[in-house]
Amino acid sequence: MLHQSLEFIAIFIPLYIYHAMGITIGYHRLLSHRSFSVTSKAVEYFWVLAGFTAFEGSPIWWSAMHRAHHHWVDTPLDPHSPRYGWFHSYFGWLLDKEYPKHIDPAIQCKDLINDPIYKFLEQGGKLQRGHALNFAINLSLRAVIWAVFGPIPALASLAAGLAVLQIPLMLNFTCHLPFLGYKNYQSIDDAVNVWWVGLLAMGEGWHNNHHAAPGSARTGTRMWEFDLSWYTICLMKKLNLVDRINAPKHEELVAKTSRRIAKEQIDKTTRELEIEIAAREAMNSVSKIKSQLVPETVNAR
Ligand SMILES: [Zn+2]
Ligand SMILES: [Zn+2]
Repeated sequence: MLHQSLEFIAIFIPLYIYHAMGITIGYHRLLSHRSFSVTSKAVEYFWVLAGFTAFEGSPIWWSAMHRAHHHWVDTPLDPHSPRYGWFHSYFGWLLDKEYPKHIDPAIQCKDLINDPIYKFLEQGGKLQRGHALNFAINLSLRAVIWAVFGPIPALASLAAGLAVLQIPLMLNFTCHLPFLGYKNYQSIDDAVNVWWVGLLAMGEGWHNNHHAAPGSARTGTRMWEFDLSWYTICLMKKLNLVDRINAPKHEELVAKTSRRIAKEQIDKTTRELEIEIAAREAMNSVSKIKSQLVPETVNAR
């Protein structure tokens, strides 16, 4: 029994790390944000396969929803902001049968839709068919592992995939609850850095940092913000598997985010002024109409 438990743990831990980095490096930083580029398609598929075999679903669907999350963060158009319901943010948004009207992979994922493998996994935009195909492939893979290597490797692999499935679901929710974390950079969204998500999600829990610079391949920007995915990307660069990395420094982000906040405040003030002017003009027109009507009313009597 002890031997079997040790075997299970020895297989589970490296597979957990591999699958988790399939999401962070493959689905997220490479496909969704293009924060670095790889020297061959094989490297891209290696990491995307790691995410796909952790029940992550179609890469095009995942990227389209994630890009929409950044574009409309914490507004009613965000696919999974906890501002509009905790259950929906955690799991409910996965039950949709179709893309919401404002999300279209042909617009948001032009760079991914022509890849033949991603196109097949997308199942023509039928979301539940895409999820079902993903589950079927995942379960078949574990059946093959069972047949070839036996039950313990198969169960450890299944457990690692299902555990990693929780990472982005939990992250979408916990890293947008301000009371659970802290911000390094000013923002008008709710994204915060949550240290324990940072550890479990191979660096992805530094979510305020990520929203400050979504196109950065590094999310841990302070000394203590451990980001295993970033170190792995740097190692791939040393091995010539990566040719471009985008990673602004902490000081650049501080300056950039404060400039952005100042602009957003100006935009907000301008919008409020426009609304006030429109309201005044409407009031003036109403008063004018009233003043024209009153004498006529008096004359009519
Ligand atoms: Zn977010
Ligand atoms: Zn992102």
